[in-house]
Amino acid sequence: MVCPLMGIVLVGNLEESARKASRWFLEKPPIRNLRDWAISFSLWPVHFTTSCCGAEFAAASCPRFDAERFGFLPFLSPRQTNLLLIEGTLTRKMAEAAKIVYQQMPEPKFVILMGVCALDGGIFHNSYNIVRPHELFPVDVFIPGCPPRPEAVARSIIMLQRKVRNSKYIWGDGHEPKGED
Ligand code: SF4
Repeated sequence: MVCPLMGIVLVGNLEESARKASRWFLEKPPIRNLRDWAISFSLWPVHFTTSCCGAEFAAASCPRFDAERFGFLPFLSPRQTNLLLIEGTLTRKMAEAAKIVYQQMPEPKFVILMGVCALDGGIFHNSYNIVRPHELFPVDVFIPGCPPRPEAVARSIIMLQRKVRNSKYIWGDGHEPKGED
């Protein structure tokens, strides 16, 4: 099929070709800039509290810090979210659940690690039962601290927004959780 407007030739399966054409179209400025701007103000984290850092995450979403003004809206269903915010310790058992949640999230999706426990084990550094989330997921922003304050959560959102608006991510580049199943 030949598209006279774009001057490109689409070969093969019509549905597949249409998908490629729409992907091509979305990657062109200013459509891409508009798309990235919209995504940056639509970061919806899935509720996935694994440890005590979750209290600070909850505080960030409350009226005093009001993370919702950044378009940051915590949501229950992974299928309606695009941000996995791992709050603190991730045990082997919960890592399996995190992988399932992450796989259910639509593209483009992002990952923030919160707290020193999520970064490198923290006080459980030598534990047999701790997983380093950065070995499983492509992490966009790390928040250090024990626990990080809600302001740090707000700052991480702003950093991720900047990253998205500067087109530093690749749409649909197959972010599959790593590691054994
Ligand atoms: S970093 Fe501190 S507050 Fe966060 S999960 Fe670890 S021990 Fe708890």
